[in-house]
Amino acid sequence: MFEGLSERLSGILGGLTRRGKLSDQDVQNALREVRRALLEADVALEVVRSFTDRVRERAVGAEVVKSVTPGQMVVKIVNDALVEMLGAEAETINLNATPPVPILMVGLQGSGKTTTTAKIARRLKERDKKRVLMASLDTRRPAAMEQLAVLGGQVEVDTLPIVTGQSAPQIARRAMEAGRLGGYDVVMLDTAGRVTVDEALMDEAAEVARTVDAHEVLLVADALTGQDAVNTARAFDERMGLTGIVLTRMDGDSRGGAALSMRAVTGKPIKLIGTGEKVDALEEFHPSRVANRILGMGDIVSLVEKASESIDQEEAVRIAEKMRKGKFDLADLRNQLAQMEKLGGVGGLMGMMPGMGAMKKQLEGANVDDKVIKRQCAIIDSMTPKERRSPDILKASRKKRIAAGAGMKVEDVNKLLKMHRQMADMMKQMGKNKRGGIAGALGS
Ligand code: GDP
Ligand code: MG
Repeated sequence: MFEGLSERLSGILGGLTRRGKLSDQDVQNALREVRRALLEADVALEVVRSFTDRVRERAVGAEVVKSVTPGQMVVKIVNDALVEMLGAEAETINLNATPPVPILMVGLQGSGKTTTTAKIARRLKERDKKRVLMASLDTRRPAAMEQLAVLGGQVEVDTLPIVTGQSAPQIARRAMEAGRLGGYDVVMLDTAGRVTVDEALMDEAAEVARTVDAHEVLLVADALTGQDAVNTARAFDERMGLTGIVLTRMDGDSRGGAALSMRAVTGKPIKLIGTGEKVDALEEFHPSRVANRILGMGDIVSLVEKASESIDQEEAVRIAEKMRKGKFDLADLRNQLAQMEKLGGVGGLMGMMPGMGAMKKQLEGANVDDKVIKRQCAIIDSMTPKERRSPDILKASRKKRIAAGAGMKVEDVNKLLKMHRQMADMMKQMGKNKRGGIAGALGS
């Protein structure tokens, strides 16, 4: 999927990676091209605009990581903005309500509602061990009710017995009643669709949603219809408040515009994607994977990520050198703490630092967890640069001021200073004892 856009952006941004320097003008030029590519992929204009604004904000004046070209940096920024636009985190169906939890499926005819209803029912049954009841509210086409019953047989999920002559809300009520009596966890309601959005369709779906107090209202939309799918989503959302979107036919030749625009336009998450006609062709929506496919530049993205990591590593080596010379001051400690936070705690840091086994012990002894790290940073932040360089000048009155500034006690300041002193002493000691480079000195 997304072949067109991917090629296009690869061309534009691939060109950038071959340039040494990225000026404001380069960013502008690149964004003009990105904008054109997104529009060609059928991304909604308003979305394209906010997207390029976001990228511009970050790209201009952004620090370019060493050993990476400015163009590669822009690729990373575009990638990150894409992921954000797509929704950052994968979201799933919410069943957090008193059972039976009503899930309403809405959308245009042929979008894949009935198929997706069965797919989701199967998933809830197999992965979440839920008892699911499905009901077709499609009163216009008797064949539609049959279709759901057949699918129910395939996925081994119960369907509500068909009774002719009832309206959609009546069937919905009957389904909920059967759900309660039968001890089901979830009741899935598949509605009728029209070829285009019309009032009657909206009225009916909205009435059903009200009648059963639908916990999830999922719009099923065909990814191949691009902008139309986005307009449909907007219309349904305004009318009955969607809780999520399922994009079908993601296995097809979609240009990606729908996936990109949906979330941004409706603010509603894409919860699942349909990737085929079979009942197991349903997948979670992973924004980072989709962004990767759209850009087609996963290699560059991970290259930049690696480069940022190695910058951290260089910084670690620099600090280790200062430690060795006994010049490890509070500003350095602050740096270390910030790194630790970034890398997800003490464990992560130790994976990066050359020979940090000793420091790890020290920190564990001091009971350093992420919350403690934050507080220690706050203490160092309320010191003056001079105090950070020369902790020796910290007497009672200064400590009082610092503690107050960080919203902590003098005792906490003392603890931090003690930890720093011990670390600095230990580093100095190791520097004296061994020779042959930092790694050797620190015994990695
Ligand atoms: P409804 O009218 O919205 O209920 O749509 P249906 O569930 O009846 O589906 C219409 C057609 O689309 C059927 O032939 C399905 O097999 C097909 N379909 C549904 N979802 C997908 C999908 O994710 N990928 C593909 N390739 N086909 C799908
Ligand atoms: Mg149907």
